[in-house]
Amino acid sequence: MQKGSIGVTSDNIFPVIKKFLYSDHEIFLREIVSNAVDATQKMKTLASVGEFKGELGDLTVRVKIDKDNGTLTISDRGIGMTEDEINKYINQIAFSGAEEFVNKYKDNAQAIIGHFGLGFYSSFMVSKKVEIHTLSYKEGAKAVCWSCDGSPEFEMKEIEKNERGTDIVLFIDDENKEFLEDARINTLLNKYCKFLPVEIAFGKETEWKDGKNVETDKDKIINNTKPAWTKKPSELKDEDYDNFYRELYPMSEPALFHIHLNADEPFKLTGILYFPKIKNNFEIQKNKIQLYCNQVFVTDSVECIVPEFLTLLHGVIDSPDIPLNVSRSYLQSDANVKKISGYITKKVADKLMEIFKKDRTQFEEKWDNMKLFIQYGMLSEEKFYEKAKDFALLKNTEGKYYTLEEYKKLIESEQTDKDGNLIYLYATNKEDQYSFIERAKAKGYDVILADGQLDIHAFSQLEQKNEKTRFVRVDSDVVEKLILKSDDSNKANLSDEQQSAMTTVFRSQLPQIEKTEFIVSFENMPNAAPIVITQNEFMRRMKDMSAMYGNNMMSFYGEMPNSYNLVVNVAHPLVDGILKDEEKQCDGKTAALFNDIKAAESRISELKKSHEGKKEDEKPVAEKEEIDNLNKKVGELRKQIDDIVSKYAAENKHVRQLIDLSLLENNMLKGEALSNFVKRSIELL
Ligand code: ADP
Repeated sequence: MQKGSIGVTSDNIFPVIKKFLYSDHEIFLREIVSNAVDATQKMKTLASVGEFKGELGDLTVRVKIDKDNGTLTISDRGIGMTEDEINKYINQIAFSGAEEFVNKYKDNAQAIIGHFGLGFYSSFMVSKKVEIHTLSYKEGAKAVCWSCDGSPEFEMKEIEKNERGTDIVLFIDDENKEFLEDARINTLLNKYCKFLPVEIAFGKETEWKDGKNVETDKDKIINNTKPAWTKKPSELKDEDYDNFYRELYPMSEPALFHIHLNADEPFKLTGILYFPKIKNNFEIQKNKIQLYCNQVFVTDSVECIVPEFLTLLHGVIDSPDIPLNVSRSYLQSDANVKKISGYITKKVADKLMEIFKKDRTQFEEKWDNMKLFIQYGMLSEEKFYEKAKDFALLKNTEGKYYTLEEYKKLIESEQTDKDGNLIYLYATNKEDQYSFIERAKAKGYDVILADGQLDIHAFSQLEQKNEKTRFVRVDSDVVEKLILKSDDSNKANLSDEQQSAMTTVFRSQLPQIEKTEFIVSFENMPNAAPIVITQNEFMRRMKDMSAMYGNNMMSFYGEMPNSYNLVVNVAHPLVDGILKDEEKQCDGKTAALFNDIKAAESRISELKKSHEGKKEDEKPVAEKEEIDNLNKKVGELRKQIDDIVSKYAAENKHVRQLIDLSLLENNMLKGEALSNFVKRSIELL
C-alpha cells in the first residue's frame, strides 16, 4: 500500500474548492461522467486502430445510487488507469499559487475547474471520501484502489477487480444528501449528459404490469448518443429537425425553420439553430441556445459567444474550440469567439436569403413572426443589416409585402415631395388611424403597416442610411400636407379679425385633457373633413422613444405635454357656416371694440415712430406712459372680444360637436366629454 500527499502547493485546496465552488456543486456529475465517457471513447479508438485486440464488451457507463452506504458510483469500461497513471493524472495536480488563483476567479467555478484539470476533484465538493477502483486495459496491469477523504493525504492499494475500467465511488457528505436522490440525479443527467456520445444507464426501464408500474431488467439509457447536430445535413429530413427541436424543448410550439451549422475552418463548430415564432414582445426567452463542448452541456448563457440578437434563436451550438473555461470578459475579446460570432451571423443571414429566394410565399407567410428578430439584427449588427436589407420586407395596410427596393419603386411617382424627398407613409394601428389611412389611399398613396415594436427604430435606421427618405405617420398632418408637391396652396384665406375670432371660437370649446395641448390652425382643404387632428411626427417619435427607454435625455420629451394640431378646414360648409354665423351674431357687438383696438394700435405705432432713433431718456415720459396705457387697453379690449366670441361659441352646438367628432375619430374622446357628446348628439337629432 502506498500513502502520499497530493501534489498541490497549498495544503487546503479541498476546503477552497468546497467553499468557492459552492454555487456550482452540481457540475461534479458532469465532470465525472464525461471523464468516464472520454475513457470509453479512448478505448474504442484503441480498438479501432488495432492497439487493443481483446473484447470491448458492453461499454455502457453506469450511474448508481446506493442509499444504504450513502454512495454514488459512476462506472465505465474505458481504458482504466495503472498505479503510475493515477500518480501522474490524479496525484499531481500540477499548479502553484492555487489559492491565489481560486480567489481571483472565485465567482467563476467553470474557470477554475477547467483551467487546472480539477474536473475529477470537483467530486470533493459533495463527498467526504472518494474512491477510484480501476483496472487498466494494458496487458498485465494490476487493479488499484485510490482513496482520499478530502485532506491532501491519499491511500493507494492493489485490489481484486476483474473488469477493465473505472468505478468512481463518491461517499456523499451530509450537506449534499440531495445527490443520493434518484430524481435529482435524473435531472442532472438530463441537463448535462443528455447528448453524450456513449450510452449512460441510470436505473431501469419500467413497464405496466398487473395494474402498476414495475421495474424491468432493462437498463434505462438517459442519453441520445447521436443527436441530430452530429449528423450530416444530408442524412436528415425536415421531420428529424422538428423532432430534435421537441427533444430540446418539449413544451414548445414548432419552430419556423432551422439552420444546420457545420464549420471546420478556422474553427470547429457544429449545431442547429431554430427560428422560433417571435410575435409581439421581447419576452424573456425561456428556451435558450445551449452550448456544448463535444456533446457535453456547458451552459445556456451564450451571450458572449453569439451576437445579442441571435440569443433570440433556439437550438444547439457545439464547439471544442470555444475557450469555455475562462472568464467572460476574456471570452468577449477572444479572436476565435469573434470569428464564431461572425460566422453564425453570416449563416443566419444566408439562410434567410435562401428561403427568400427559393420560396417567397413561405417567407412572406413567416415574415410577421420573424420581423422583430430581423429588425433587431439589422439595428444591432451592421453586417447583418448589409445582408438583410435585400430581404427585409415592408407590409402595407392591405397585407401586401414588398422588399425595400420594390416598395421604393411602388411609391416613387406619387410620394416624392417638391424637394425630392421620398415620403413613406405608415400607420401604427389600422383601426385607430382608419380615416387617415383611407384619406391617404384616396389620394393615391400607399400606407405601410407598422405595428411592430421595432418598426419606428427600423424606419429611423432607413432614414439615416438612405438620403432623402422620410417616414411619416399618416396622422402627422392633414393629407394635403403630408407630401407637399408644391408650395403650400392650402393657406386659408382669412382676415386677421376672422382668424382671431375663429381661433377663439374653437380654442374656447376644446375640452381639457390632461397633459395635452392643442394648436389651432386653419387650412383650405376642399373635400376634407371639417376638423382634422394631427400630431407632429418628430414630437411623437421622441415621446414614443422616451416611453420605451425612459433615459434622461429622452425624459425631457416624455415630460412635455402631448401637442396636437387642431386643423380647421375653412373650405368645409359647416365651418364656413360657423364663420358666417359668428360674424352675424358677434360683429354687432365686437365691431366697435375692433375699431377701438385699431385706433389704439395706430396711435401706438405713431408714437413709436416718433421715438425712432431716440435714446431712452430722450423719449417724453408722458408718451411712454401713453404707450403702456394703450397696450393695456388693447389687452382689455381683446379680452372683451374673446368673452363675447367664447360666449357665442359655447352656445353654438356645432362647434363643440365638430371638435368632439374629430376627437372621437382619434380615440381621444373619453369619460365625461364622451357622455356629453352623446347627449348633445341626441339633442341635435
Ligand atoms: P481532465 O479530464 O480535464 O484531464 P480530470 O481531473 O477530470 O481532468 O482528470 C484527470 C485525468 O485522470 C484525466 O485526464 C484522465 O487521464 C484520468 N481519468 C479521470 N477519470 C478517468 C476514468 N474514468 N478513466 C480513465 N482515466 C480517467
